Amino acid sequence: MSSTAKYIFVTGGVTSSLGKGIIAASLANLLQARGFKVTIQKFDPYINIDPGTLNPYEHGECYVTDDGAETDLDLGHYERFLNVRTSQANNVTTGRIYNNVITKERKGEYLGKTVQVIPHITDEIKRNIFLLGESGEYDFIITEIGGCVGDIESLPFIEAVRQVKWDLGPNNSIVIHLTLIPYLKAAKELKTKPTQHSVKELLEAGIQPDILVCRTEMPLPNEIRKKLALFCNVHINSVVEAMDAETIYDVPILMRKEKLDERVLSKLKITSKEEPNLDQWKLFLSKLKNPVNEVNVGLVGKYVSLPDAYKSIAEAFVHAGAQNDCKVNVKWISSEDITKESVKTVLDGLDGILVAPGFGERGLEGKIEAIRYVRENKIPFFGICLGMQCAVVEFSRHVLGLDASSTELNPKTKFPVIDMMEEQKKITMKGGTMRLGAYTCKLKKGSKAQAAYGETTIEERHRHRYEFNNKYQEQIEEAGLKAVGVNPDSGLVEVVELKDHPWFVGVQYHPELRSTVLNPHPLFVKFVEASLEHKKLNRV
Ligand code: GLN
Repeated sequence: MSSTAKYIFVTGGVTSSLGKGIIAASLANLLQARGFKVTIQKFDPYINIDPGTLNPYEHGECYVTDDGAETDLDLGHYERFLNVRTSQANNVTTGRIYNNVITKERKGEYLGKTVQVIPHITDEIKRNIFLLGESGEYDFIITEIGGCVGDIESLPFIEAVRQVKWDLGPNNSIVIHLTLIPYLKAAKELKTKPTQHSVKELLEAGIQPDILVCRTEMPLPNEIRKKLALFCNVHINSVVEAMDAETIYDVPILMRKEKLDERVLSKLKITSKEEPNLDQWKLFLSKLKNPVNEVNVGLVGKYVSLPDAYKSIAEAFVHAGAQNDCKVNVKWISSEDITKESVKTVLDGLDGILVAPGFGERGLEGKIEAIRYVRENKIPFFGICLGMQCAVVEFSRHVLGLDASSTELNPKTKFPVIDMMEEQKKITMKGGTMRLGAYTCKLKKGSKAQAAYGETTIEERHRHRYEFNNKYQEQIEEAGLKAVGVNPDSGLVEVVELKDHPWFVGVQYHPELRSTVLNPHPLFVKFVEASLEHKKLNRV
């Protein structure tokens, strides 16, 4: 606990989904823009060890870090806003905490003591809270506590925060409470009562919030701020308005206007000479808001009714669009809606098609139809993970004439062009059993991928079980689908590209996970560029 880092906790009240992740990332962004080193960690109160086994329909995408951790999608926001990498240490769940404690107990490390929520679970939470701070790399550790204050399952986390505040003493930690100020249309009034209640709940747990960030649809008038200050024991300067924003990328600017960063620094008794330098961020925002061009791209996937399931892809399009001064309209297409008969109508008017990642799907045939259509009609194509695998199956079927498939879809296929590697076959448990995290890939000179990256050795993140089957590599390459990216250690194919096509690239990895505001992903940038080119040539 001998760290010099300052600790900022972000809790939430009244309802979930208030955007704690975005507020935490925006604050981190402002502190970083003043020259501080900041990281954010998320503590989730659910019992899953990690979100890897969660249904993306319920929980949104599972975000994978370089070290192969399967984490909450908020870590994606942290990376996109801060342009710094996160790791397993940045996401801890109740399940992981209990798992650690129970493993220790089985090893006899508690020396005959009764193992209890307090102090053993809370101590383990505290150990995890301090982990990143102790590295000495950071000036600020922002810890987001998932869920809502008052939930049974968040109690040990809130108690750990209370203890940390006590342990660290004054001026070393603060609690920011994010809350909702609902607007009652009939009464034409903003209501503070739910916030008062949720602050009371925090007080009951022994925590006085230092700053209130209030989500609201309407500007917070002074009398509402005064009321909140009086009833929640918070200085009026520390009542921060968080209006609904046009884009999440506006939030750092809005928080700057509300002086959230200044309040935080003053509460932690830190003097910062520098004003935040937000020039690059503002340049991005102005490109984002003033596009010169527009393209329509289709995202063919399974979970299209819950856009959070493809959060990083959607955000990568925002970054790549701004880079190209181009508005990217993403049309979400359910692969189950695509058949041989419907494909032309469904994909009509689209300038590029991205086929999304996914697992064990019924809609696979729809994805294959979509790929056949864009391959034959020379429409830009970007296949990610399952999307790349489908491209290989499609090509093997319709160009090589093989009755090919992926063994994920048809375990008995005679031509398993996508198959599981021998080591993977031995694994029967579902959690954490995939090829996960960053792996190196060598790109062939002269390929579109290599031109996009401007480098021949790259590193990208993975999350999959199945692979391009190298038995078919020669045959597939000879017919024109080239393996232009290969893992130098395992020989596994990472990138395929079609010859004689304006832009047809499939990647086994997840480029979307590395796209940030300040570093838009080169493949997304080039795909948008190719889609724009296609539009210019084909649609007037
Ligand atoms: N289901 C495929 C596999 O496991 C692809 C996974 C993905 O798209 N992330 O290999």
